[in-house]
Amino acid sequence: MLGSENHNYNLIVFTAPSGAGKTTIVRHLLEVFPDVLGFSTSATTRERRENEVEGEDYYFMTEETFKSKIDDGDFVEWEEVYQGSYYGTLYSEIERLKAAGKVIIFDIDVHGAESIKDKYGDECLVVFVKPPSFRTLIQRLTDRQTESAESFERRVNRIKKELLYENSFDLVLLNDKLDIALSDAESIIKEKVLSSDNRD
Ligand code: 5GP
Repeated sequence: MLGSENHNYNLIVFTAPSGAGKTTIVRHLLEVFPDVLGFSTSATTRERRENEVEGEDYYFMTEETFKSKIDDGDFVEWEEVYQGSYYGTLYSEIERLKAAGKVIIFDIDVHGAESIKDKYGDECLVVFVKPPSFRTLIQRLTDRQTESAESFERRVNRIKKELLYENSFDLVLLNDKLDIALSDAESIIKEKVLSSDNRD
């Protein structure tokens, strides 16, 4: 799966259809490599879920605030991922993490991943987390029980489109058995971030 070349990646983007497990993978990597990696906390206008923490999972904000930040050019990339729900990566977040000397890890959708790759090019590695099947994804989304019926349907439609992006990025990480996916993800960080001999 992994190439042998050494490369200094400063940005590692995990992208996938909703429910493919990228958030679990990203959280795991942050626990395993806390000194190296820093999470790019996105801004969003969607409602905070019960277990989510402001400033850690997201910067939750009103649509009005979000739109004024768009006007001010504060976003590296932003998207209306679901109708009425905006998500975006703030320049200030990237600057904060770079100043802290972190390799930045992102959990964003496929369009956001394309935008970050376009902007940061060779500095950026994009990993597509591949679910074992469409059925599994739908089951995971059902089990999560975070969506209303309407929002569930929107997410299902979106998943179908996002699955088509599998071959658009640098690496594909299969998430069938979670423990294997987590260990493969650790290998990616070790090989693509830690093994470089010219990091300062
Ligand atoms: P959720 O509502 O489940 O937290 O996230 C919905 C989708 O939006 C996920 O695919 C998530 O990765 C994506 N997302 C989160 N933050 C951003 C962001 O800053 N930019 C973009 N483009 N997508 C994001």
